[in-house]
Order: sequence, then C-alpha cells, then structure tokens
Amino acid sequence: MTSNIKDALTLLETREQRAIKQKTLLKQGIPLVVIRANYPGTHKLNAHTTIVVSLLAHEITQRYSIVHKEISCTEEGLITYLLIDEDPYKIKQQMIKLEENHPLGRLSDIDIITQDKILSRHDSQQPPRRCYLCNDNAHICSRSQKHSIDEIQTYFKNKIETFCQSKISTMVYFSLISELCLHPKFGLVTPYTNGSHDDMDFELFITSALTICPYFDKVALIPIVDDYQHMFQELRVLGLQIEEAMFNSTNQVNTHKGAIFLFLLLIMGLRLGPDIKDNIQRLSQSLTQDFQDIKDKHQLTHGEIIYQELGIKGVKGFALNGFDSLFEIYVPFYQQCEHDPQLKTLLKIMSHCEDTTIIHRKDLNTLHWLQTQANNVLNNQLSILKLDQQCQHNNLSPGGSADILSLVIYLDILKNKEERSI
Ligand SMILES: [Zn+2]
Repeated sequence: MTSNIKDALTLLETREQRAIKQKTLLKQGIPLVVIRANYPGTHKLNAHTTIVVSLLAHEITQRYSIVHKEISCTEEGLITYLLIDEDPYKIKQQMIKLEENHPLGRLSDIDIITQDKILSRHDSQQPPRRCYLCNDNAHICSRSQKHSIDEIQTYFKNKIETFCQSKISTMVYFSLISELCLHPKFGLVTPYTNGSHDDMDFELFITSALTICPYFDKVALIPIVDDYQHMFQELRVLGLQIEEAMFNSTNQVNTHKGAIFLFLLLIMGLRLGPDIKDNIQRLSQSLTQDFQDIKDKHQLTHGEIIYQELGIKGVKGFALNGFDSLFEIYVPFYQQCEHDPQLKTLLKIMSHCEDTTIIHRKDLNTLHWLQTQANNVLNNQLSILKLDQQCQHNNLSPGGSADILSLVIYLDILKNKEERSI
C-alpha cells in the first residue's frame, strides 16, 4: 500500500471514530459544537491547525456556558467538542458570524449538531461558504480541485503567522504551541504522548498557554527608566501575577513557570534597544542578590538546592549571561537547518544547556549522559526514536531546553515579521 492510500484510509477511520464520539456526546440531548481546522491533505495535526482550533474554541467558551468540553488529537488534527445548552439555530448564526469575522474564522470548520441533523448554512438562510483563497463557492473549489493542496496549506500557514505577528501575546502563543506540537520530544508532552509525565497532558499545556499569553502584552506598558533594577522589579511583579494565573488554570501544576521567566526578560530586553544580550544582563543583575541570600533562607526552591549543592545557576545563570548561548549558538543553528529545524535545535540545546529540570528529577551524571546522547543524535550516531525511548524509559523530560526552544521560535517569527514590514 502506498503511503498516500494508507494516510487516506487512516483519515477515513478517524472520521468514523469522530462520528461515534459525536453520537455518544449527543445522547445527553444537548446541541454539540465541533471545531476543526479547515486544512487540506494529510499531517493535519500540527502547530498551525492547533492554534486555529484552540483560539476559536477559547473564543466560544468565553461566550457560552459550556455543559461539557473535550478534545481529541487525531489524524484530523485537534478537534474540540462543546455541549452548549442553547437553541442550536441561534448558536449556528453566531458561529457563522465567527467564521466570517474572526481573522482565523475562515480557516476553521464549526459544526453544530443535534440528535436529528447537522445544521447547515441553508437552515440559517445564509449563503454557502466562500473559498478562503478566491472567494468563490468553497464547495465548488474543493470539488474541482481548483487550488493545489500546497497552495492552500501555504496560504493557511501564512495567514496564521501574520495574525500571530500582530501582538506580543499571540507571538508568545505561536512559540509555545509550536514547541508543544513538536513530536517526538524525549519525554516531554506532545499531541501524541504525555512523555514522562503523569500530571500533565497536551490539553493542560494549551489551557495554560491560553491563560498566560495575554499578560505578555503588559510588558509594553512598563515604563523605560535608567534604573534597571526597578524595571526588573516590575517584571517580577508581573511574573508573579502570570504564575498565579497559570497555577489557577492548571490545578497547581507547573506547566510554564520557566517559560514565563524567560519570555518576560526576552520581551523587555528587546524593548530596551539593539544590544539585547547586554539589556538582559543588566536587567538580571538583581538575581545575583538572590544567590547571596540563599544562605539565610530556610525554605529553598529546587533551583536553589541545586545551586547550593552543585554551584549550577540554571535558568537564572542563563539570564545573568544575557542569554548568550541563545543568540550565539541556538538561533544561528536554527536558521541554518534545512530540515526539521525545531527538532534539531532542541537537540542542540539539550546537548549544551545545564537543564536543571533533569538534575532535579535525576542527578548531574544523568544530565551529562543526556547531553552526550543529544550530541550523538546530531552526529547521526544515535536515532531520534532511540533517544526518545531512553528518555521515557528513564523518566526524563528536558523541560528547561524546551523553554529555550520556544524563545528561538519567538525570535524567528519576530525576524519574519520585521522582514515582511521592510
Ligand atoms: Zn477557491
């Protein structure tokens, strides 16, 4: 069987599974809203489709009181199911408005299903959907294969990237979801596995990212003054607010604490002028005091215990060095990768960084072993799948490295934005 036929068959099976799931949910006798990405071809489960579905589902959950919510990750991509106890025709009208007016609306398919039928646009006296490429009747474009799959996929991805580039918060969201959707990922959570974690999954990371991202626009409101310590203090206050919101949304699970710290410094560092490394270094100076204060503290964090025992400063040390390896090693490496830049860059980071999440779960020897193994994969001496299995088997998860990868993705989308505006 060719891989195309195999993909098509898998897609048919997943559609069948979706029909069964919908039928089960509809037994409650309440209208069901199903949100999918309107994305052609195979490999539908990717960062771009996840961004469209998660953002639109979030919009809808803000507007209605939701009786039940669940998601699935299949060959059809991320799908969100919502049971909403309201008049299905009214919901349909609202969803047509959302599809037409939200910047990403036309990239989605939002079905309203009752026990009797799937509501159509015709039921709401609305004209048929228009194609997002040429504005003709979408059904006719699709049947006549007027546009190539490649053309539609490129349009879809560009549209999302342009939308995300409009604000700091959506650029952070793009970066976090891109990192989350990367698979395989050496014991970290992906759309296909919870990796080495029993307290978190793909959905929890999406919830957490949706919660924390809006706060990053507030970095732009921090006044720029000569006193770097004062600006750092403002970042700290904002950081604590974001952490609190994160913990409330995840039932106290730490999903993004490291990423929050890094993004706040990066975004402020970018605001303070072209010498970003120097800006981050100056902002971080207050952290030196943190290390000096450790000897007087009674209750230490995991990071502080690691510093006291091993002298490793972890993510704070990375900040004190102005994120030097980010700018000098990881970003240039990412930009010169022809294939799989995200996966290869993650391995590069893993081979290099002193990821204290590994020391915390295991010990320093394990960190050194993992650094060597990541390097072996980059040199083609070990397969990606073998290292992925080893990490899961040993209950490892390089969370600190994944956080740095999301910074690389942020700087890349920012660079594309600047190039577009020239
Ligand atoms: Zn068309």
